[in-house]
Amino acid sequence: MKKNIYDYTLKELQEKLQPSFRAKQIYQWLYIRYENTFSKMINLPQSMRQDLENEYEIKNLNIIRTETSKDGSKKYLFKTKDGLSFESVLIKMRDKKLNSNGQIIESEKWTCCLSSQIGCKVGCAFCYTAKGGFVRNLSSGEIVEQVVQIKKDNSIAPEKRINIVYMGMGEPLNNMQNVTHAIEILSELDGLSISARRQTISTSGIAPKIIELGKLNLGVQLAISLHAVDDELRSKLIPMNKAYNIESVIQAVKNFPVDERKKIMFEYLVIKDINDNIQSAKKLLKLLDGIKAKVNLILFNPHEGSQFQRPDLNQVKKFADFLINKGLLCTIRESKGIDISAACGQLREKELSKIF
Ligand code: SAH
Ligand code: SF4
Repeated sequence: MKKNIYDYTLKELQEKLQPSFRAKQIYQWLYIRYENTFSKMINLPQSMRQDLENEYEIKNLNIIRTETSKDGSKKYLFKTKDGLSFESVLIKMRDKKLNSNGQIIESEKWTCCLSSQIGCKVGCAFCYTAKGGFVRNLSSGEIVEQVVQIKKDNSIAPEKRINIVYMGMGEPLNNMQNVTHAIEILSELDGLSISARRQTISTSGIAPKIIELGKLNLGVQLAISLHAVDDELRSKLIPMNKAYNIESVIQAVKNFPVDERKKIMFEYLVIKDINDNIQSAKKLLKLLDGIKAKVNLILFNPHEGSQFQRPDLNQVKKFADFLINKGLLCTIRESKGIDISAACGQLREKELSKIF
């Protein structure tokens, strides 16, 4: 089987190729020009193009379906070489900045929400991805290629800044090696140039792996899917909490290296009548005491067969106001793509039920 060309850092590719300076040229074709055919890399010798063609694959993923939301977010369903499918989302946000003349300049801000696994082992009660069980890890190349294909499909200029969040399908810390390697490839200055600081790993809270990630000191941002403030409820929502309870997650977070100007994000999925009361907000405030934290409240997105309900927006606002009044940074995640099967795993599920 051919190797995936997106699997390599620049240094790794330099070590593989003779002469090594060709690696930078290939990087430019792949990541700046989004080229997906070796024969079109015209500044490489003909024989090298042929050798590359024989040994490496550029197009390892196929876009089999997309859905565009009214708010501009676009969801992708990718198919792998071995016939499996998974999703990613491109999120478009308006960004306002003042220029040197004091005028407001509006620009678009792009975030790619990537998958790290096909399915997930963690099995959260509210999550659509969990329903299909675990299938396999995505390779580093498959993680990187999601970004390249999405940039190409939307004609996003190579110099345009984009952010990465590992909040699609899968638990990134259960695929630590491939995810951290992908972070390195994505941050290559001769390639996509997305620094680790603009990449956020979201985890359901595997405490020892948070510690391991912290020790690597990659400069990556961390988001913790907390969702509950007491162990009884959290264990019902995230069964793994029985092994790594709230206290162990908080301890791991306290030792995680955080950039001076950055904060650790705590994601809190708000579910109607389950965790949306002010009592929980009070407990949350206490739990996060002493941590440079920001809270992101996510409205539960119901899916077929789910036992939970979407919370009342006014209740979520009250929850947020309570935290903000106490000085905690708190945002309510805009329901990006709510009209396009927004919660992770939903587009894939739709496609599978169409097929079978
Ligand atoms: N496994 C990692 C990252 C992927 S899940 C984690 O759990 O953090 C990414 C996010 O999708 C999580 O914050 C999760 O809470 C959210 N999510 C899952 N199911 C959802 C649903 N039905 N509605 C809204 N958000 C959901
Ligand atoms: Fe896995 Fe995250 Fe879904 Fe939980 S919420 S099952 S950890 S993908």
